[in-house]
Amino acid sequence: MRATPGNRAAAETSADSIISLSGRSLTGRDGKPTLSLMSAPFDVIVVGGGVTGAGVARDAALRGLTVALVERGAPGCGTTAASTHLIHGGMRYLLYDRLTTHETCWDCGHIVRTAGDLLTRLPIVWPVYRDHARGLETVETLLEEYDRFQPMKHGRRHLRLSAETCARLVPGIKTEGLIGALSFDEWWVDAEDLARRTLESAKAAGAQILLGAPAEAVLRAGARFIGVRAGGRNLRGRVTVNAAGPWVDKVARLAGASLPLRLMKGTHLVYRDQALSPVGLLLEAEDRSRCIFVVPSPLGTWVGPTDLPGPDDPDEARTTDDEIAYLTRSVRRYFPRWPRHHDATIVGSRPILGQPGAENLLSRDFEVFDHELRDGIPGLLTIGGGKMSDYRLMAEAATDAACRKLGAAAHGTTQLTTLDGRPVAAIPPWPQPAPALKRFLRARPRLRRLHALAHLGAAFASHLARRAAGSCPETDEAAFRRHYATD
Ligand SMILES: Cc1cc2nc3c(=O)[nH]c(=O)nc-3n(C[C@H](O)[C@H](O)[C@H](O)COP(=O)(O)OP(=O)(O)OC[C@H]3O[C@@H](n4cnc5c(N)ncnc54)[C@H](O)[C@@H]3O)c2cc1C
Repeated sequence: MRATPGNRAAAETSADSIISLSGRSLTGRDGKPTLSLMSAPFDVIVVGGGVTGAGVARDAALRGLTVALVERGAPGCGTTAASTHLIHGGMRYLLYDRLTTHETCWDCGHIVRTAGDLLTRLPIVWPVYRDHARGLETVETLLEEYDRFQPMKHGRRHLRLSAETCARLVPGIKTEGLIGALSFDEWWVDAEDLARRTLESAKAAGAQILLGAPAEAVLRAGARFIGVRAGGRNLRGRVTVNAAGPWVDKVARLAGASLPLRLMKGTHLVYRDQALSPVGLLLEAEDRSRCIFVVPSPLGTWVGPTDLPGPDDPDEARTTDDEIAYLTRSVRRYFPRWPRHHDATIVGSRPILGQPGAENLLSRDFEVFDHELRDGIPGLLTIGGGKMSDYRLMAEAATDAACRKLGAAAHGTTQLTTLDGRPVAAIPPWPQPAPALKRFLRARPRLRRLHALAHLGAAFASHLARRAAGSCPETDEAAFRRHYATD
């Protein structure tokens, strides 16, 4: 057990104590708590009502545990609301973290089956120009590899399009230098609605949800974490799950623990006009090293995101003029008549786990931290990292860990029931990546990248062979529309 200043101080306190956000003990002069600890203990308290916390509350409640969730704002108001709103498998991670793509696609499938009525299939066109960093064959190889995982998430195989078909599908796109395009599909979701509906499902299973209730102090009994003070109430829990997204470090610090993250800030430009592009787009940005999305949706057309080191405090993340200029120039490279002015910006911090390595190669993997083993604080778990697209799996892993602490044998059932309570019919037996290999590569970023590139290298060779044999045909506009038509 490693004693930190925070838990050492707590271990010296024999009575229940309440630690404020500043770490100050809120006990009276006589050492007795100044705030009453009246609540009956819940099995699980969840801090954070983003998509992850909502998932944990739902999973735990469906296992028959008593659950309370505290969220300082509204459902999904944090990073979840600032996401690109895609349930996607992480095609880009095929370049350096293939197993995360595999696992995310696997869990996307469960999300599609359980929350399908919230999702819309979004065809995404990736135009390729003569001067682009990645040529048509490289991009097609990447998408051919992604095709291997697409069926897991009920996605369709990619298509190859001529420059003329691309121009017909995307009116107004610059045609000079356009040599062709590829297309693939992801799922669009109103992310806040997904968090809200997941919370409603948790509530229907018996969870208590407190919105507008920031966890502002933690309750301790000696070293043990026994709950939180939130929204003027003391909530006692046998296990507390910190699911505060990019704020997990801030919440862990209340208990004297620390969880270093590599927060990466992301901004989107939002245009009220929902029809600036009839399809989704993936565009090489002006710096040529990364791509940005154009996402038409009922919430408007979103352009972004950026991907920059963010401030340690997610509340300090702000959109800069440079980000706005970068995104505007990046989209206007392709659409000279694109509006000069956006209607809003939205910014959030990706809750990426602390890890070595370059910013563009950071793994989006997740992990459950047991603060009893890590920091000598029994009763506290943190679920960190990950993405919205694997929130169900993250929630299951966190709830499994909570059940082990509670000695509860119940298994997760979130993949078996839709958010509105209907049974899920058939679950295809797709394999998950081997956990041992995943753990091994997780700790070795260079090897992880080599593993990914080795697969892509082999795929590139067989792609070129297929091209030489003339078996990578182009699809016309009508076939494109049929291909992505809803089921
Ligand atoms: C620009 C950008 C684009 C992204 N695009 C995608 C995408 O398209 N697809 C995808 O899968 N992922 C995407 N991600 C990642 C994804 O958004 C996040 O991984 C996911 O939403 C995190 O959810 P969460 O519930 O863990 O965190 P959050 O949504 O941030 O939820 C944490 C919650 O904790 C609450 N909270 C904080 N402190 C306290 C406290 N003291 N007491 C009570 N509550 C508290 C906050 O209010 C917040 O609601 C994107 C991220 C960014 C930044």
